[in-house]
Amino acid sequence: MSGDTDNRRECDFCAHRCRIPPGGKGLCGVRYHVPVAGTQSGERSGEIVTTVYGEIQAAAVDPIEKKPLYHFLPGSTAFSVALGGCNFRCRFCQNDHIAFADRLGPPRAHWEPPDLLAAWKRSRSPTIAFTYTEPGVWQDYVIDCARLARPEGARIVMISNGFLTPRAVERLLPLVDGFNIDLKGDEQFYRTLCRATDAPVIDTIRRVAPHRHLEVTTMLMERFHDSALLGRLEEELHHAGVQVWHLSRFHPAGSMLGERATSETFLQDALRSLRRGIPYLYAGNSRFYENQQTMCPQCDTVCITRGSVAEDHTLRGACPRCGHLLYGVFS
Ligand code: SF4
Repeated sequence: MSGDTDNRRECDFCAHRCRIPPGGKGLCGVRYHVPVAGTQSGERSGEIVTTVYGEIQAAAVDPIEKKPLYHFLPGSTAFSVALGGCNFRCRFCQNDHIAFADRLGPPRAHWEPPDLLAAWKRSRSPTIAFTYTEPGVWQDYVIDCARLARPEGARIVMISNGFLTPRAVERLLPLVDGFNIDLKGDEQFYRTLCRATDAPVIDTIRRVAPHRHLEVTTMLMERFHDSALLGRLEEELHHAGVQVWHLSRFHPAGSMLGERATSETFLQDALRSLRRGIPYLYAGNSRFYENQQTMCPQCDTVCITRGSVAEDHTLRGACPRCGHLLYGVFS
């Protein structure tokens, strides 16, 4: 964060880089510039603070596959937590009641990082997932929890829209073991439906891919995603070194309840149209079982099956037939 002459301070959590006046909030509605005058004791005057810090809007134990993370401790669970807030305003948001700051209800609990650590231990999950809303806008909480929980053996994953600054990525990389980042579409898609842009998301993907476990998700909408666009996204992800890409079906949500759900045929055609620049391609929100299995890219043996539960048949990530080491975190 940096200051300037009119007493505004810039928030460097995300690529909006809001310049927030004293007493004001950023676009996400959860980052607040504490004014110097009238500061109550204990508040950090002149700083930008996260108003929802520790205010838990959702907490649940989910299969890790639901994040979706298919190559990160397959078959395990993730203790999944959300504070309120998001830096996008997606018209199709399924979690707008906890993502949009102006719609937030009272939190379910207040958990300082030691409380979250205790709750994670009770969950008996190997992983803590920061998810459901946009953890980038409350990354100070992610960082504080990760600093406490990783030495206790927790794996940390973040499910994010990827609209981060390079500085934020630098802060998060040493403390987050795995990411799922949405690449929603092209520039026009982001501008029309999310009030955002695509370039910072692509930049985050490029910065994360060489260093941390990364899976990317694109939700397909029939009116917006054609094969030419998917080809361009595939090219982009291939160049970034992305190994795992989830293409999932859209179901009407948010203010787009009138939009048609994406059909299974559209999803299957989309998968077939790709040139296999990404080794592991999956179908999400789909009844087609075969597009949810992990096959060995070398000998085509089924390595991980995903029905009602996921079963990992690898030998600590190695194909049981040819020994090829699959991309991912397996122990
Ligand atoms: S997190 Fe993003 S949207 Fe929120 S105040 Fe900071 S720069 Fe603005």
